[in-house]
Amino acid sequence: MTEQIGTTCVQGGYRPGDAEPRQIPIYQSTTWKYDTSEHMGKLFDLEEAGYFYTRLQNPTNDYVAAKIAELEGGAAGMLTSSGQAANFFAVFNIAGCGDHVVASSAIYGGTYNLLAHTMRRMGVECTFVAPDCTDEELEAAFRPNTKCVFGETIANPALAVLDIERFAKAAHDHGVPLIVDNTFPTPVNCRPIEWGADIVTHSTTKYMDGHGAAVGGAIVDSGNFDWMAHADKFPGLTTPDETYHGVVYAEKFGQAGSFITKATAQLMRDFGCIQSPQNAFILNLGLESLHVRMPQHCKNGQAMAEFLSQHPKISFVKFPGLPGDKYHELAKKYLPNGGCGVVSFGFVGGRAAAETFMKSLKLAQIATHVADARTCVLHPANATHRQMNDEELAACGISPDMVRLSCGIESTEDLIADVAQALEQI
Ligand SMILES: *Cc1c(COP(=O)(O)O)cnc(C)c1O
Repeated sequence: MTEQIGTTCVQGGYRPGDAEPRQIPIYQSTTWKYDTSEHMGKLFDLEEAGYFYTRLQNPTNDYVAAKIAELEGGAAGMLTSSGQAANFFAVFNIAGCGDHVVASSAIYGGTYNLLAHTMRRMGVECTFVAPDCTDEELEAAFRPNTKCVFGETIANPALAVLDIERFAKAAHDHGVPLIVDNTFPTPVNCRPIEWGADIVTHSTTKYMDGHGAAVGGAIVDSGNFDWMAHADKFPGLTTPDETYHGVVYAEKFGQAGSFITKATAQLMRDFGCIQSPQNAFILNLGLESLHVRMPQHCKNGQAMAEFLSQHPKISFVKFPGLPGDKYHELAKKYLPNGGCGVVSFGFVGGRAAAETFMKSLKLAQIATHVADARTCVLHPANATHRQMNDEELAACGISPDMVRLSCGIESTEDLIADVAQALEQI
């Protein structure tokens, strides 16, 4: 019998043997002790698996990464210090100076900055395409040096739903993998690998932790992408790594293990964006109830979107679960049980009305955070996206009056009453 996702949320990743701790132990140790230098040498040669320094790997992290990999239906996983680090590693693991990336323009502001500005300074160029671009526009974005395609299952905060199958096909037609940031739906609501994505990333800071307690990220490799079949495009995986005595990752670790092994052995070694084992422990507590929390987030989001869409002071509501939403058909296909609890909307009274609304909320708290058990609210043009000009904002699907409300898991009636009274103040 295949295990259902709720069982994996609770018990996945760490399955203790006889007389072992029931809960995942926190390995609060920077380093590991070995009896001989020879033994340690084998670890440094990647001849043997094992731990030596927490800048690269820690068992607590690996248990939790294994759970997330199981949840996504992937072959291997790793934790990173943040979602930003996860997306950076996922892209930089296969795209370096002189390479090019195709990305959906409807993505998290931090990831947009990473791809549009910071990675450009590292010599990686990015072409952005609208998530609902035509097939011709998508095709035209590719170059001979394109190394991957990037998108978000549900874009934060634009709430565009990515047509994963279409983007995966375009990527595969060009011999490159599709990387999907699955932070908002979580594997409880969508498993992008089942639709053709090759690598999945997460900001575990959001629903996975779910309690606003620990910043973190994760990368899961499906193990489905055949690096050797496109060996010339991915020399980092298919030619010898001189920093590890000439190991060829795709040969030695196979299709299932090479991507995550390379990201650990090279990028963790050199950048050190490791999640603390304490945070991994906290993340795991969140994962244990993910399948119970997500339906309540979705129920609250749906009720809120329906309430707002009937309100005379609201000019638009974005919520893929709403019939008539631009992405409703894609949501029915990819997110049949609901997507997330985040609702974006705008005001008939424009930016000023948004500001009054924000000031008047009592239960919903203003926070840069999203996807938390407690309802939180953000005005992106005044916060996360304030470094963007109006043109860049529009490309990300954000207007100056747009507010992003992240419905928590409180009682639905109380959340709607709070929003109703704040709307009265406008
Ligand atoms: C928050 C977020 C990130 C960045 O994650 P951090 O953990 O804050 O670094 C990346 N992608 C999406 C979709 C996010 O919501």
